[in-house]
Amino acid sequence: MKIGVLAMQGAYAEHISILKKLDVDVVEIRNKEDLKNIEGLIIPGGESTTMGKLIKTLDIYDDLKEKIEGGLPVWGTCAGMILLAKSIYEDDTKHLATMDIEVKRNAYGRQLGSFETKSFIKGIGEDVQMVFIRAPYIKSVGNRVEVLSVVDKNIVAAKEDNMLVTSFHPELTDDNRVHKYFIDMVKNHIK
Ligand code: GLN
Repeated sequence: MKIGVLAMQGAYAEHISILKKLDVDVVEIRNKEDLKNIEGLIIPGGESTTMGKLIKTLDIYDDLKEKIEGGLPVWGTCAGMILLAKSIYEDDTKHLATMDIEVKRNAYGRQLGSFETKSFIKGIGEDVQMVFIRAPYIKSVGNRVEVLSVVDKNIVAAKEDNMLVTSFHPELTDDNRVHKYFIDMVKNHIK
C-alpha cells in the first residue's frame, strides 16, 4: 500500500515516520506526478493559508481536488482539515473545498490555543491522545458527514465517505490508532 503525504509545509515528517513504522510505503507529495500511484493521502497540519497558496503555485491543486472528488481516501489533520472544508467561518477563502463542513480557524484563541487531552473517537476507542495546536474545530456539518468525536461540545473529528478530518495531531503522540484507522480506510478502498 502506498500513501502520499503532502510535503510542502508543516508536520509532514512526523506522519511519514509513523506510516513507516506501520509498514506502509510513503510517497512525499511535492508535485502532481507524485500523486500518480498513491492509494491514500494525508494532508498535514501547518499553516493553511501558506499550504493553500503552495498547492496552487506548485500546480497541484486541480489534480488533488479531482483525486479526492474521485474517491481517494484522504485524511486532513488541523490545517489539512481547513484545506478540505467547504466553508471557513467568517472567511471567504476556499481551498480544496471537498468536504461538507464549516470550520473555525484558531478556534481556541491564538496564544493559549495549544493543549492536550484524551477523548473518545467513534470507531477508534476511548482515551485517544489529542494534541491541539492553534487548532480549528468544526462548527457545523452537512448531512452526509459523520461526527466521530466531540470535545468540550466542539466537533474535533469527522468523516464523509473517503474523507477523514481531525482538529488535533495524532502524529505528535505515541498513539497510532488514528493512523491505523486511516490505513483501514485505504485498505477497504483498495478492495
Ligand atoms: N492555525 C493553523 C491554520 O489556521 C492550523 C494549525 C495547525 O495545523 N496546527 O492554518
